[in-house]
Amino acid sequence: MAAFADAIIAWQRRHGRHDLPWQNTTDAYAIWVSEIMLQQTQVTAVIGYYAKFMQRFPSITALASASQEEVLQSWSGLGYYSRARNLHNAAQKIRDEFSGVFPTQFDAILSLPGIGKSTAAAISTFALHAPQPILDGNVKRVFARHFNIAGWPSAPAIEKKMWQIAQRENPSALNQNARAIAYTQGLMDLGATLCTRSKPKCAACPVNASCEALAKKLVHTLPTPKPRQVIPEKNTTMLIFINGDEVMLEKRPPVGIWGGLWSFPEVNNDDIHLQNASPLTKLTHTFTHFKLHIQPQLVHTSKKSQANEPHTIWLNLDDAIGAAIPTPVRKILQELHRANKKSA
Ligand code: SF4
Repeated sequence: MAAFADAIIAWQRRHGRHDLPWQNTTDAYAIWVSEIMLQQTQVTAVIGYYAKFMQRFPSITALASASQEEVLQSWSGLGYYSRARNLHNAAQKIRDEFSGVFPTQFDAILSLPGIGKSTAAAISTFALHAPQPILDGNVKRVFARHFNIAGWPSAPAIEKKMWQIAQRENPSALNQNARAIAYTQGLMDLGATLCTRSKPKCAACPVNASCEALAKKLVHTLPTPKPRQVIPEKNTTMLIFINGDEVMLEKRPPVGIWGGLWSFPEVNNDDIHLQNASPLTKLTHTFTHFKLHIQPQLVHTSKKSQANEPHTIWLNLDDAIGAAIPTPVRKILQELHRANKKSA
């Protein structure tokens, strides 16, 4: 079975990615942050955020000592905010329970908030010279195609099968660290650059000779998509209280959708009977499990009537755009900012 790993390793050394900001280091913190940011997010989107995050929180201690507000602000726009909250909680756990040093035992890494088996394996392989098999979304796609595994890859039975393949193919069994690093990075690179979701570049693939999906013309049917579910749709009205160029933001509860971020107060569409309210452009935001249709209503107010409400803050538009806010709120603020500039 070493042929698969050999081909991936040789290809990675010649054609893989070698200059990403989190490569060429064994700093577990730097690798951990990159692995968390790269979950559900492409490299090109991550690079800018990563540089700013590492500059603002250069160490585990710096991250642990920051407020959740600061961490969320640095994450603002990347989405999936539980990743940022978990990263922050995990840094505090490392500070409090591991004397501020990233743990080296696999089980201890797995015990940190927000770190699953594949992420722990990647950190262990790249930072700690203790290679472990990985199985992230890109790798699942490569395995589903190359080894012709039908079924949605995240279904428990299919995932179990894939972990067995991951274990079987991983050169760590041979205790060869450098090869294991090249293999792990190679699998990630292959999934991200050649064995892509659409239009895979099979002609350039280092394992095309043994790829079952290619031989059986199944490349475009694998991996099996997630069984279709009707995603529920919800409606909400966001109230944008504005006074001059200042808007009111409200802190969301610490857990749940956009937990801990600043947003606008929301009401049910039916409950709105506001004077001085004028609708802005509607927008839709898609979460993994539902779609949210948002009707922003601009409410001009002559005084900051909500100023003493708990969990609220008034900020000018520039500061509000730079605060820890979710993407749709930023889009609304940017629209307001453009409108303000035009009328100035
Ligand atoms: S030959 Fe094509 S489908 Fe098969 S692993 Fe390579 S890129 Fe993916």
